[in-house]
Amino acid sequence: MRAAAREANAIATSHTAPPAVPARAAAAGLETLVQYARGVGPQRARLLLDGLGIATVRDLLYHLPRRLDDRSHLRSIYDLQHGAVETIQGVVGQVRQFRPRRRSLVITKAAITDDSGVLQVVWYNQPYLARLLAPGRRLILHGRVQRRAGEIQMIAPEFEPLDDGEDTLHVGRIVPVYRSTDGLSQRILRRIVFHAIDDYAPLVEEWLPARVRRRHGFADQEAALRQAHFPDTLDAQEQARRRMVYEELFLLQLLLLRQKARAEAEPRTVRYGDAGDLVARFHQGLAFPLTQAQHRAINEIAGDLAGPHPMNRLLQGDVGSGKTVVAASALLRCAGGGAQGALMAPTEILAGQHYLTLRGLLDPLGVTVVLLVGGLGRAARADALQKTRDGTADIVIGTHALIEEDVEFHRLGLVVVDEQHRFGVGQRAALRAKGPRPDVLVMTATPIPRTLALTLYGDLEVSTLDELPPGRSPIKTYARPTARRPQVYEFVRAQVAEGRQAYIVCPLIEESEKLQAEAAVDLAARLSNDLFRGLRVEVLHGRMRVEEREAAMRALRAGEIDILVATTVIEVGIDIPNASVMVIEDADRFGLSQLHQLRGRVGRGAHQAYCILVADPKADDDVTARRLQAMVETTDGFQIAQRDLELRGAGELLGDRRGGGLRQHGVTDLRIANLLRDHGWLEGARRDAREILAQDPALESREHRGMADALRRRFGGASAENARVG
Ligand code: ADP
Ligand code: MG
Repeated sequence: MRAAAREANAIATSHTAPPAVPARAAAAGLETLVQYARGVGPQRARLLLDGLGIATVRDLLYHLPRRLDDRSHLRSIYDLQHGAVETIQGVVGQVRQFRPRRRSLVITKAAITDDSGVLQVVWYNQPYLARLLAPGRRLILHGRVQRRAGEIQMIAPEFEPLDDGEDTLHVGRIVPVYRSTDGLSQRILRRIVFHAIDDYAPLVEEWLPARVRRRHGFADQEAALRQAHFPDTLDAQEQARRRMVYEELFLLQLLLLRQKARAEAEPRTVRYGDAGDLVARFHQGLAFPLTQAQHRAINEIAGDLAGPHPMNRLLQGDVGSGKTVVAASALLRCAGGGAQGALMAPTEILAGQHYLTLRGLLDPLGVTVVLLVGGLGRAARADALQKTRDGTADIVIGTHALIEEDVEFHRLGLVVVDEQHRFGVGQRAALRAKGPRPDVLVMTATPIPRTLALTLYGDLEVSTLDELPPGRSPIKTYARPTARRPQVYEFVRAQVAEGRQAYIVCPLIEESEKLQAEAAVDLAARLSNDLFRGLRVEVLHGRMRVEEREAAMRALRAGEIDILVATTVIEVGIDIPNASVMVIEDADRFGLSQLHQLRGRVGRGAHQAYCILVADPKADDDVTARRLQAMVETTDGFQIAQRDLELRGAGELLGDRRGGGLRQHGVTDLRIANLLRDHGWLEGARRDAREILAQDPALESREHRGMADALRRRFGGASAENARVG
């Protein structure tokens, strides 16, 4: 109620109060603090800043509506249907204020008439309304209709007087609805934005070249801003929004292309000596021939390492496509050439696995591989640090422990980041900073559609492993209700009897790793006492000590474990070719990409692999049902990503549960564009940006200077660094 009172106050005063600063004359222009915008003041400025991150008038102008309410269609009172939300126009007749009982709320009742009938409007506890409801005054009202006992009513509708000559804001038009914050009602925010557009929109710079505007048929800035907030028609708003989406994506592409150009101009500092036949011997020693795609990626990387500039490359490939060998080959090229290589993985388990794999591959070649993770004992850690510092270690494998301050490299040449979407930009940058300007290879198993790749990795070269090693048959995937669990476990038993191994993934417990670990221990105990009696069941979770985990992984690899009950720690990277079954409990709790990653733990060998999703999706939960269906229907990571994009939106596609993902690419920096809906604009924006940079790489010409300013404003400072991957 207090908010309503303030609101009414605002309505009452804002018509008369002069603006605190004559806006157009304000020297700061769009950078004027929002406090000085009409109708704001210190208190609301604080709410705007704390609640919505709006500091300046410019921020306010680009705080676009979350949605629009079309209140432009007026009805006559006679036609109002019970239960409908409608807008009407009428004249105030009799107004009564009374308390039905002593001490009860004040009720305000007004009769509103048009040529067709009478509407009774009721407000509770808003005594000040009497002032606004002068008989004879023309109003527009918007609210839910009630027809009872022969009366047509609206309870507490939104309304607005029409007779003050001002444009109506809240009713009788298409009305913007904003993301707002406590203490700042829609009405207040709407009015503040409305005045800001009047006062400041004419100052908004037109930095988009006329020919680009013409090419896409965009309106000018001022008109676009006005239509984006207070459109004449829904179509006009869509047109305006398109221009703003385009602008944002265009600026992002400018940023990425310029970063790329800068990187391409950067001279190489690390120089590799001749590695002799080391790499060739490595390839020959492998148990399998490389795929065409692996050959291609390895050659592209070798080309970069021999090139005149530091490498900035992304290696993407679906789970199981064999990225590790490509990374190993690159690290070997580096080590053989006399520099050190570092491989950073997101979990200790994965780092441990890479360590074992690479040692197995590289020890015979006389290359020293060292592990550096947080859970190492004191002596082991000191030893690893020493070897890294004095150069004894040719290749250092680890987690984010690699970027701790006391880690010093003797001569870091190449940095490889595995499952890079799991790392923050800061972490990748910190690793890169361990050398003078090392070569960087980032790897990801999260396949993304091409248009998204342009946005996210626009400053990187990309190698893609688009084929799986031969002999893999697609993983057979089934969704089963919990009632069928006994049969599922029976199937697992049968696979084990044939010599295979199985994973059982416990339900996701988001809030607590501890609870999740306990759940895994509990499930393992129950299964080994019951359904899996006589089988070798082990657990694996993130809270085990390093040695325990390593022991479990080693036993699994050696075939000494039949069934591994695990938490999502096994989501990334784990590679046990003999494992052929993956059971995911409560599969409805996982996202699509995550399910795909988990499933990727099987089907890595020659045996037919199975993935069984155990879940009871609720009948009305269509999205979950479709997610499980997508898993059953396809094992192609690109298709999965596309479906995920459709089902969840881009924001979550690359996001890990800790809120990383897109944000780390500077892409959740996008305020207006929604990649799910707007990715169709990306290619065009990129083409235009490239065309302009080709003419004027530094954006120095008079025509482009405004663009450079816009770029700095939009992605300047921290976010410019954020948009850089690697
Ligand atoms: P990911 O791309 O998911 O990281 P890995 O590098 O873990 O995949 O490789 C998956 C499995 O495929 C490993 O067991 C690896 O030894 C095997 N592998 C890699 N390349 C080939 C190949 N060319 N032929 C057969 N198996 C391969
Ligand atoms: Mg991997």
